[in-house]
Amino acid sequence: MSKLTLYNALIFDATGRAPFRGTVVVDGGTIADVGTVGEVKVPEDAKVIDLRGSFLMPGLIDAHMHLTGSRSGKIEEDLLTPIGVFFARAVKDLEALINAGFTTVVDAGSIVGLHLRDAVKEGTIAGPRVVAAGPVLSQTFGHGDIHYMPVEYVDYRTTRKLTPFVSLICDGTEECRKAARYAMREGADFIKVMASGGVLSQRDRPEYRQFTLDELSAIVDEARAAGRWVHAHAEGKTGIVNAARAGVKVIAHCDLIDEEAAQEVLKSGALCVPTFAIDEVLLREGQRLGVPEWGMKKIAELAEIHAENVRSAYRMGVKIATGTDFSGGVGRHGENALEIKMMVDKVGMSPAEALMSATRLAAEAAGLEGKAGVIAKGYLADVIAVDGNPLDDVSVLLDPKRVTIVIKEGQVIKSQSQP
Ligand SMILES: [Zn+2]
Repeated sequence: MSKLTLYNALIFDATGRAPFRGTVVVDGGTIADVGTVGEVKVPEDAKVIDLRGSFLMPGLIDAHMHLTGSRSGKIEEDLLTPIGVFFARAVKDLEALINAGFTTVVDAGSIVGLHLRDAVKEGTIAGPRVVAAGPVLSQTFGHGDIHYMPVEYVDYRTTRKLTPFVSLICDGTEECRKAARYAMREGADFIKVMASGGVLSQRDRPEYRQFTLDELSAIVDEARAAGRWVHAHAEGKTGIVNAARAGVKVIAHCDLIDEEAAQEVLKSGALCVPTFAIDEVLLREGQRLGVPEWGMKKIAELAEIHAENVRSAYRMGVKIATGTDFSGGVGRHGENALEIKMMVDKVGMSPAEALMSATRLAAEAAGLEGKAGVIAKGYLADVIAVDGNPLDDVSVLLDPKRVTIVIKEGQVIKSQSQP
């Protein structure tokens, strides 16, 4: 295994330590040593990259997105496009993500992401590590039961046309257990459930409760029994509270989280992934992208209250991780650092807190706590160098050209000379 020394960088290690001038030694896929320039002994057989003081941090993580290869907001297009085309486009999306400094992404529902995960892992295509849910679990008339389409196009097990986003429709604890087991059989790293209504489901509303507490608990039980976890879509209060009580690890969106719901989330230790970036993109570009009018109406009602609520929950101590909910169609992959800026603008985080949210906390949401998201001995060597200091302004991360070096598991995937 090859050794690599990243010499003389300004290091933000995401442990909570103040940034320091230092050196990182990588051995194989992991970090072998890190410390100040004087502290770290540079191994003689290591290749040295002189960073001349540029900013070094853990690779970025998007803890809620969808690798679909979709290119519009029109769901009918999914039915008219061959599945292979979606895969080809998503390969390009993975390239854009790694170029932008993302070394891990959590695919919160898509068959495309589930399969491309393996292609990345075996080294056939370049991209971030993909942690994938595959098909999502939804109740009948739930957010994942795309109920404005004929029912025979929706369920993964019976669909007459495979589309990137497919569901396992299940009702009652027995069906929920079976669906969770089926998702894992298909290769799911974690189980994605729809615990409330949402914006992009025509006839439900974000505040509708979906799945009962019993159903959610059964799904969590099955996931845990197989060493996995549950990631829930929950916008309304009852959905959030039920998810927390059932032992869900990651609660996405959290639009209508209030003080009582935040207390439940705190008690359970769950992470919230608010996905503000998709709100922003929907408001800005939804109409042009063909997002249906009923979806545009709901997002306009929600966006502001969403930010207010999450800001209050954050002040109460709820753990917040970055996730965009980008799909490639609505929200272009490669622009995912927008969520880091949202953490500053909408939640009121300091730049250092926002970076923590995009690294260490997002790693926890990806099931990689203690393994990724931090620059420390024994962690996976996922690091990026940035031309500029995101602690002055996180916006530098929005420009992939400013991400000059990307290393994933000790492999240099991108390296461009410093200006
Ligand atoms: Zn999502």
